[in-house]
Amino acid sequence: MERLKTSIQFVKGVGPARQRQLLKLGIMSVFDMMWHIPRGYVDREAVIPIHALRAGDTVSIKAKIMGTSVSRTRRGMSIFRALLQDNSGVVTAVWFNQPFLKNSLKSGMILYINGKVTFRGSQMEINVNEYDLLEEKETVDKIAAIYPLTEGIAQKSIRRIVSAVLKDYLNDYPEILTAEAREELQLCDMQFALQNIHYPADWHSYALARKRLAFEELLLFQLSLYYKTTQFKNLKGIAHLEQDDLLEKVTRNLPYQLTRAQQRAVKEIFTDMESAKSMGRLLQGDVGSGKTVVAALAAAKCVSSGYQTAIMAPTEILARQHLKSLQRFFTGTNVAIACLTSGTQAAARGQILEALASGEINIIVGTHSLIQDDIAFSALGLVVIDEQHRFGVRQRAKLNSKGLAPDMLVMTATPIPRTLALTLYGDLEMSVIDELPPGRKPVLTRYFPPSARKSVYEFIRKQINKGAQAYFVCPLVEESQKQDLQAAVSLYHDLSENVFPENKVGLLHGRLKPVEKDNIIQAFSRGEIDILVSTTVIEVGIDVPAATLMVIEQAERFGLAQLHQLRGRVGRGAKQSYCILLGNPQTEEALQRIKAMEATNDGFILAQEDLKIRGPGEFLGVRQHGLLQFKIADLSADIELSEKARKAAQNFQRQDPILQQYMQLKFSNQPEIVSG
Ligand code: ADP
Ligand code: MG
Repeated sequence: MERLKTSIQFVKGVGPARQRQLLKLGIMSVFDMMWHIPRGYVDREAVIPIHALRAGDTVSIKAKIMGTSVSRTRRGMSIFRALLQDNSGVVTAVWFNQPFLKNSLKSGMILYINGKVTFRGSQMEINVNEYDLLEEKETVDKIAAIYPLTEGIAQKSIRRIVSAVLKDYLNDYPEILTAEAREELQLCDMQFALQNIHYPADWHSYALARKRLAFEELLLFQLSLYYKTTQFKNLKGIAHLEQDDLLEKVTRNLPYQLTRAQQRAVKEIFTDMESAKSMGRLLQGDVGSGKTVVAALAAAKCVSSGYQTAIMAPTEILARQHLKSLQRFFTGTNVAIACLTSGTQAAARGQILEALASGEINIIVGTHSLIQDDIAFSALGLVVIDEQHRFGVRQRAKLNSKGLAPDMLVMTATPIPRTLALTLYGDLEMSVIDELPPGRKPVLTRYFPPSARKSVYEFIRKQINKGAQAYFVCPLVEESQKQDLQAAVSLYHDLSENVFPENKVGLLHGRLKPVEKDNIIQAFSRGEIDILVSTTVIEVGIDVPAATLMVIEQAERFGLAQLHQLRGRVGRGAKQSYCILLGNPQTEEALQRIKAMEATNDGFILAQEDLKIRGPGEFLGVRQHGLLQFKIADLSADIELSEKARKAAQNFQRQDPILQQYMQLKFSNQPEIVSG
């Protein structure tokens, strides 16, 4: 197995330039290359003649390019067309948004194409899924794998490297399932699977290969969860027993009655905390359902029993807001609460670290600054992780490891379907807050096209004159943080100078200093700012109950979960709130999202919808965070397989050195999780 770690540069045909290109695809080792899964296939044997094409079918053809063209649609999409001919007829093949193809696909070339036959007017066209050049014959079998590529590297080259890798290294690939287990699960062996994912002998072999590789990923993922999150599980944990009346004091400080759902969650958490087993619990509750107070009560119990609590939030703003809430809840007690973020000055940080280590600080709130190596606790008894889906498994484990089997409470607003939750969190128990605090009115949500901007402004003006406060949110421009800021700045100028000159407009963005952010939010919260223009830094958790208007610019650029989170910033008081989605949705998906937002305020329904539209990785917002980077498994489609993998993981000899080595191989290359 060691040989699988071999750097890809030692494979025949890979020089330094190639190595750099492969790195862009995440391929460093021979092992990575084996797991570079084709994104599609072209069946060279199943081609049909052009004259036999029927609209609606997905087919493969083999034909010669007679000519090509690139054009643009009115909506700015580019279309590359190639006129194709075989000896039975001609048809146009269409590629969307790949104008660069004009450099590689030229008249006279012979292509295999896999795509869907459609009609445009009376013209038959093929929307291309995959294509393959005839000249690359030497490197393929009859079913040709089509790989994800990056600039400067051709299908042919990847195929050559894959072929070389399989030839020299496949025999080194470990098999962690016994023959009996494979039989029972109806899985082929790994070497067969890898061979046939790259070079399917036929479609049946491909299906077997895919199933085994998906299972392998899910299994390893489950095992990794076990290592990382539940290694404390059966260890003896802390039995939290209150030593004083702190909990009563805090309860008396609460400005409201807990909802029944909150009470139930608190009870479940307390039962776990009192038990000598270490707690691993997921608290799931829609945006605005009141998770913070539940965490505060758990913290009170923990502190009362003589231990420290650490609360980790995904953003600085949220951490500081939690600090404020906690300070309110713990008024009149002698509990010491501190806040630590990347913005904390060195001197203050030093003091905090000392006070944490000595036990002077009882509760620490912070961002991922809390998991730095030099931070030590005197007696960490409870770890709370807010907006859990933003943090990776490793970050959780790291914070956890700062105590001796501390209890762990992870909180999320993302309603995760049960099966998915089990897959993601392994053994975590689940508490659900399925009820909003009383008196909330559903937020009225409406989409408006750019042409309606003026009337939207007038509506906002009327509301503000009646004393309302508004958020304007600009989308994150992923390619460029600068543009992202610019968009917000120019909107801010426009609103403050031209549109609402008589009102106070504020601007909030990620690059302000922590104090500045804080001041602006406080001013907004005191009602001194009428309109807060912001980048998505407010996405998570801000709580200003008086704000009732949410305007989301370019709403088509946000995911459904994000839109729902943003909308959750309003509708927190008894007054009617409004969410206005501005934008110009151009894709079917974007339209679906906006419709879904208009249709419901229910986070659970939206989550189901989102899962349907995007699949689980994107849905949880974790794909880019490395937590769910499945190469072949698909959590929404492979639910049954995922459950089997979870069961299988439970029976594994986890100390097995081969397995450990294998896990390292699989996970060493994954990016560390970063959060917003
Ligand atoms: P989230 O679950 O989204 O983190 P928060 O904890 O921020 O929600 O709470 C949302 C708002 O609801 C806050 O303004 C909080 O003070 C308020 N709240 C929480 N619980 C209750 C309750 N039982 N009754 C009334 N208001 C509540
Ligand atoms: Mg919250």
